[in-house]
Amino acid sequence: MTNALSTLLETRDWLMADGATGTNLFNMGLMSGDAPEMWNVDETSKIIALYKGAADAGSDIFLTNSFGANASRLKLHSAEGRVIELNKAAAELGREVADASGRSIVVAGSVGPTGEIMAPMGSLTHEIAVEMFHEQAEGLKAGGADVLWVETISAAEEFAAAAEAFALADMPWCGTMSFDTAGRTMMGLTSADMVKKVSKLAHQPLGFGANCGVGASDLLRTVLGFAAGGPTLPIIAKGNAGIPKYHDGHIHYDGTPALMADYAVLARDCGARIIGGCCGTTPEHLRAMRDALETRPKGAAPTLDTIAAALGGFSSASDGTDGAGPEASPRRGRRRRS
Ligand SMILES: [Zn+2]
Repeated sequence: MTNALSTLLETRDWLMADGATGTNLFNMGLMSGDAPEMWNVDETSKIIALYKGAADAGSDIFLTNSFGANASRLKLHSAEGRVIELNKAAAELGREVADASGRSIVVAGSVGPTGEIMAPMGSLTHEIAVEMFHEQAEGLKAGGADVLWVETISAAEEFAAAAEAFALADMPWCGTMSFDTAGRTMMGLTSADMVKKVSKLAHQPLGFGANCGVGASDLLRTVLGFAAGGPTLPIIAKGNAGIPKYHDGHIHYDGTPALMADYAVLARDCGARIIGGCCGTTPEHLRAMRDALETRPKGAAPTLDTIAAALGGFSSASDGTDGAGPEASPRRGRRRRS
């Protein structure tokens, strides 16, 4: 299979992905409760600035502003009839920035969770989920996305539905889950569980991994868990810039560019080949990460103590891969934007 991402993976040891979408758009004036995807048509210069921010900071891959652009989530804004339009626009703007960059940059069509709980725990059927993801995939494909990129997923069923939809759209893809509940996803999956689930998918991704979650330390513990499962596919690490903290009514991430530079090289040492940030990660963080990846040599996989010493402690004693049970039960209805 030939596409921009597999070509880069064949020629490079590591690739740098992008940072946050939500954090950077809030910095440009997006208000909480607004659908950021409307800016793909209403505020195109700001979306171009978002993409350019990542491209100019050295990202080899950036994600489109389409995380919540599925029919279920757009319905909250009475825009469920605009799935194709908003996704196509997100990818077209991305194509424009990538093609003008003068180097090979992958436009990855972001696909977030449906926002509904899937059967058997919830009411969203597999068929409807596949249909929703397929519609979004066709919009991103029409706009010129190189690959699709499902992220912040917590249920194996939803990940599988996305994979099936991307096969229907005949598109290569990557996928990440969010391990935000004591090292597990909200639905209880461990990193080891994900390696097994991914290996069984009929439409294999080009890479898989973790995004968002708690802090950069937890995310690296998850990456070590993936690596221990001996996966054949490249591992993706997109950790938050530190820990979210409420400050003056806003969520602030306490990770500095220097911390994210350390995170990036540690992520590579843990076995990740695609390394980016999630919430709180700005172009300033990305520049520090790129510089560190280019100038510091690859080392051996770090111990948990090394990770904690560099990036801070973990949110839980265990991440479940040692057989410990979930420390918290699955919670419903909480979905964060990346
Ligand atoms: Zn995030």
